[in-house]
Amino acid sequence: MSVETLLPDAAAEPSPEWFAEVRELARRRDAVLLAHNYQLPAIQDVADHVGDSLALSRIAAESDASTIVFCGVHFMAETAKILSPDKTVLIPDARAGCSLADSITADQLREWRSEHPDAVVVSYVNTTAAVKAETDVCCTSSNAVDVVASIPVEREVLFLPDQFLGAHVRRVLDRTNMHVWAGECHVHAGINGAELSAQAQAHPDADLFVHPECGCATSALYLATSGSVPEDRVKILSTGGMVDAARATGAKEVLVATEVGMLHQLRRAAPEIDFRAVNERASCRYMKMITPEALLRSVREGTDEVHVDRELAERGRTAVQRMIEIGNPGSGE
Ligand code: SF4
Repeated sequence: MSVETLLPDAAAEPSPEWFAEVRELARRRDAVLLAHNYQLPAIQDVADHVGDSLALSRIAAESDASTIVFCGVHFMAETAKILSPDKTVLIPDARAGCSLADSITADQLREWRSEHPDAVVVSYVNTTAAVKAETDVCCTSSNAVDVVASIPVEREVLFLPDQFLGAHVRRVLDRTNMHVWAGECHVHAGINGAELSAQAQAHPDADLFVHPECGCATSALYLATSGSVPEDRVKILSTGGMVDAARATGAKEVLVATEVGMLHQLRRAAPEIDFRAVNERASCRYMKMITPEALLRSVREGTDEVHVDRELAERGRTAVQRMIEIGNPGSGE
């Protein structure tokens, strides 16, 4: 059946035939389909597993499937390849990048490190394989505080690439010898404190779920500590943590400050709760490059394969494994 038949209108929901065809082609390819929480609803629904980047990479490593189809952005597929070097890893569109991962290159990191030769380099998992290879220990938004706290207080820390997550860690640990790279994700930086405050006022009984990468994370903490919003209503969470919190909260309404694709999983996890985006325009164009058409082509033709140089992968794997050993790595973005 042709792609046109399965997807008659690019704007329309994919047909049940598309769903069946993707599943059948994945089975024939011995592939496991993984979808990040920010993917389009149809991609999330057809996948074997939906989650955050680190949880998906672990599932990929533990899976018996010989091929991993990673519906997410490129650094996530690279991380899966680093943890599963002998498996074939596909991403339906290799152009799906990430503005945060692209905010620092391996050359820039080497230069920064040369200015602080005794520092420990901590990288958020949203980095390229080349940057991970220059990193001492990776972290997720769940264990960033634990990772930095595990470093002797007299050692300098270089934290990258996300300035909002770095500011959060520095504030929690009150650590003055921690330098933070000025990177940001264009989507999360666009969710600002003014919008969050206005929404919190308009919905006085709602819980606030805030991703620490967001430009509004500082405002969320301020709202909580200034008494504007009861402290127990503000939850700074990774995307995986948001799903757990949705199941546990007693709130009827929740304001969500992260990429809007997250709402689909939250509504599935707790259909009785009214989830609202703090900023409905917070959509990652890179994540949305994984279209139903691209996924169909990927399982049909084996495109686009992700390759990571063996030596780079080896060094990056050490940094990722250190991350897994510290605290509760939970989840990444
Ligand atoms: S939402 Fe931001 S951090 Fe996440 S993949 Fe998109 S650009 Fe990267």
